[in-house]
Amino acid sequence: EKRFYIPHITDIFDGAVAIPSTFCLKSRTPVNEDFADGYPSDEKWHGYINNSDRVLLKVIYYSSPTSAGAECIDPDCTWVEQWVHRAGPREKIYFKPETVNAAIVTCGGLCPGLNDVIRQIVITLEIYGVKNIVGIPFGYRGFSEEIAEMPLSRKVVQNIHLSGGSLLGVSRGGPSVAEIVDSMEKRGINMLFVLGGNGTHAGANAIHNECRKRRMKVAIVGVPKTIDNDILHMDKTFGFDTAVEESQRAINSAYIEAHSAYRGIGIVKLMGRSSGFITMQASLASGQIDICLIPEVPFHLHGPHGVLSHLKYLLEKKGSAVVCVAEGAGQNFLEKTNATDASGNIVFGDIGVHIQQETKKYFKATGNPADVKYIDPTYMIRACRANASDGILCTVLGQNAVHGAFAGYSGITVGICNTHYVYLPIPEVVSYPRVVDPNSRMWHRCLTSTGQPDFV
Ligand code: ATP
Ligand code: MG
Repeated sequence: EKRFYIPHITDIFDGAVAIPSTFCLKSRTPVNEDFADGYPSDEKWHGYINNSDRVLLKVIYYSSPTSAGAECIDPDCTWVEQWVHRAGPREKIYFKPETVNAAIVTCGGLCPGLNDVIRQIVITLEIYGVKNIVGIPFGYRGFSEEIAEMPLSRKVVQNIHLSGGSLLGVSRGGPSVAEIVDSMEKRGINMLFVLGGNGTHAGANAIHNECRKRRMKVAIVGVPKTIDNDILHMDKTFGFDTAVEESQRAINSAYIEAHSAYRGIGIVKLMGRSSGFITMQASLASGQIDICLIPEVPFHLHGPHGVLSHLKYLLEKKGSAVVCVAEGAGQNFLEKTNATDASGNIVFGDIGVHIQQETKKYFKATGNPADVKYIDPTYMIRACRANASDGILCTVLGQNAVHGAFAGYSGITVGICNTHYVYLPIPEVVSYPRVVDPNSRMWHRCLTSTGQPDFV
């Protein structure tokens, strides 16, 4: 049996070595279990979660290596149970609420639900009895001195979930990790909640390590914000559901435009830098997509088995067609620019525009032009407020982030695995993005729904 090791603030003070990133055998009892000098939690929270409660990470047992998805099984074909720590309130808490100086920061791009998470973190902190809560404006940049922090309370956050965006603002780039920790020391912050994607979490883990190096008693807890749903081990991340739902409006418009035009083709580009989850799910949900293109599955545009020749077939067969493409798909067709954003991420070429142009050129050359319409709803989707199901997810994640920090865990992030809420060590979830498995049942369902061939 294997289990993730969850780093705890007391590790460094008990002389224990931090081993945050690997699976941990059960026999090596983590030092954080039943740490002696915790404070009793005043709030009863309708029951506590025990530190050794855990959630099974992988629920399928493959009876044979030929079962769909069975390549995920341990290469030695031995069945290894992997467990993760269950999230929730602990009976003993590490911080006295009156000594807590909590800060919240949101980084990267916008995602539906950011305000819901901020709101819930503030409300839960107040229930614990925390008085000092601030928002760091505009991501990690807000740690530089010029930007004043924003005092937060239930009153301030009461209605922020009714609109999209982030109350605190977001940004990319910013000060170095050492500068951020300097600023935290100066402000006396001992609980930091970090809402962001893989870059933000890499930053949060670096901040956690720097705080350990300086022997600061600080809890750094992340809440994964990725509309792409590309975080390892997690069923889904907040904002994804809303994104899939909101994509339906763009897909439906593209369908109507294509369907109403003579030889109409609609192209919709959706979010997904390395993972096609939104594009796959949105295509499946709509039932209106003829061609679904994702980064995980290579394709050709030209040639007898290319996307364009299938579009020609579709126009002949049914008079119109709709394509849904993820932003990270087909990057090999676009000129590499080496341009990066402020965080160092490579700026992608626009595959949607490229397909639109190539499609127009292709049909013009055949002497029988097509009417091509292109929709990129990215910013309209990212700025939406969370739908009901994401609202609930955000609420639970926000609460659990606070419970985790109060328990004294640091360098962790919160998520939902196999329908249960868990704490995971940050390095375990950001080492690489979760992607659509081209051999998975879900991708094959998508192909069945579009009826597209292999474009290779
Ligand atoms: P999104 O999904 O919107 O891209 P993200 O969290 O990946 O979210 P980034 O812009 O990549 O967004 O990073 C957010 C912040 O994290 C930036 O301020 C960036 O400077 C910082 N950051 C990114 N990578 C690292 C890293 N390896 N170490 C420290 N800080 C980092
Ligand atoms: Mg990122």
